[in-house]
Amino acid sequence: MGSGAGGAAAARELQGTCRVTILEAGREFRALSLSIKWMERLRGWGFLFDERVIRLAFRAMKVRRARDGMVMVNGAATGGTTVLSAGNALRVDDDLRQLGVRLDTEFAELSREVPVSTAHQARWSAVTRRLFQISRDRGLAPRPTPKLVDSSRCRRCGRCVLGCPYGAKWDSRRFLDDAVANGADLRCGHRVTKVVVRGGRAIGVRARAGARTVFLPADLVVLAAGGLGTPVILERSGIRCEPRLFVDPVLCVAAPWPQSMQHREVPMPFVIQRPGYIVSPYFDYLSFLFNRGWRRPAGRILGLMIKLADCEQGTVRGRRGRLDKGLTGQDRARLAEAEALCRQILVDFGVEPASIFTGTLNAGHPGGMLPLTAADAETLHPQRLPQNLYVADASLFPRSLGNPPILTILALARRVARAAVKALWGDLFGESASVRPGRPSRRSGEAA
Ligand SMILES: Cc1cc2nc3c(=O)[nH]c(=O)nc-3n(C[C@H](O)[C@H](O)[C@H](O)COP(=O)(O)OP(=O)(O)OC[C@H]3O[C@@H](n4cnc5c(N)ncnc54)[C@H](O)[C@@H]3O)c2cc1C
Ligand code: SF4
Repeated sequence: MGSGAGGAAAARELQGTCRVTILEAGREFRALSLSIKWMERLRGWGFLFDERVIRLAFRAMKVRRARDGMVMVNGAATGGTTVLSAGNALRVDDDLRQLGVRLDTEFAELSREVPVSTAHQARWSAVTRRLFQISRDRGLAPRPTPKLVDSSRCRRCGRCVLGCPYGAKWDSRRFLDDAVANGADLRCGHRVTKVVVRGGRAIGVRARAGARTVFLPADLVVLAAGGLGTPVILERSGIRCEPRLFVDPVLCVAAPWPQSMQHREVPMPFVIQRPGYIVSPYFDYLSFLFNRGWRRPAGRILGLMIKLADCEQGTVRGRRGRLDKGLTGQDRARLAEAEALCRQILVDFGVEPASIFTGTLNAGHPGGMLPLTAADAETLHPQRLPQNLYVADASLFPRSLGNPPILTILALARRVARAAVKALWGDLFGESASVRPGRPSRRSGEAA
């Protein structure tokens, strides 16, 4: 279920050993082609009055609001949220390692399969270079962000979060294509509503496909509908999740600056990692389009993004995925500290302190509602799940990463798929069944 980071990684791993069907609620991804000039016009005419209207022009981006107003963004098409990513690729598995989940093999494999590079640094604009130097002078140890981007194809159009128009950015559709080329059946427009459980085993899933409800039988079910999608399916299937939703809230701090041209720069070119948050230069499309305080020409906004590691406190539930998520006192204190730091960097840059403004609080890294524990480290199978039902997305993370999660989700999902196959084989052929982890061949699929 799901074709984002977790779903595509799991499907690619499983196809060949199993006959995989991938159910994706959204349609085939298409990048937003609207030019910045047209965006400015639509904004000027008052059409962009609420973040949720973005879906009219950009179906792949789903926007909703939590009860206290925080805006949540996620992908709803093939590739999930990876197609909207800024392309950042960081390994952040300290919490998983502490539980005993060691993903070194998976990360090593991914480093050979997924292009990650900092080559973009050679083409940074003067504004980015100056921000980097100021951060370094302040002792903040900024580092060029490793990117899932082929620099030779990147045109620095700055539109990564709207979908790369030039095929330079890696997203999980590449793994999806591999799975399909190896025989997997991808069905778009299939929204899974429930896992059907009989006698402690998942026997398949129920999904909505247009006006129809379909049942798809399965020997093994892997849920990767994302940190907001998976808990809703689990709860509807009678499996309780925990109210430990984290989302990595984002706030941009910006100022007017002539010729900043950040919207023509690779987003988040470098990163400052602080305890509990990161800071990175960023052109904030969401605030630029929908926040009244940001009604300025795109090329004259200089912005820094704060991304928080928030407390694990919140839920998504109900048929419509109602979100109950706000900032705790600790989150607010961290955010205030980070905002003060951004203001200092901008003032060092030369902006007028009184001209600094902030953006719309939003988030796009949900997870945590089915957290792994040390007891699950070997099987990667939380005990409350039926024997042959697995989860392969950020729902499993015990804590917010406060950092880009794609690479870590890819590694974890691959490991989950391996653990699921091992358990399925043991189930079918007994404990003595020999299972070789690694890429299965078509031949093994035929035997299965
Ligand atoms: C603007 C933005 C920029 C980001 N930039 C970065 C970045 O630079 N680096 C990084 O590491 N992370 C980034 N992220 C976060 C990252 O993209 C996500 O955390 C990651 O893709 C989550 O992977 P996932 O597999 O858990 O879920 P997703 O990638 O969200 O995939 C879930 C999929 O499941 C589908 N689905 C949902 N419900 C159902 C259902 N009921 N039935 C069937 N299918 C369903 C969805 O349509 C979706 O395709 C960014 C996020 C946003 C919003
Ligand atoms: S800056 Fe433009 S070309 Fe480069 S990866 Fe991002 S979207 Fe693609």
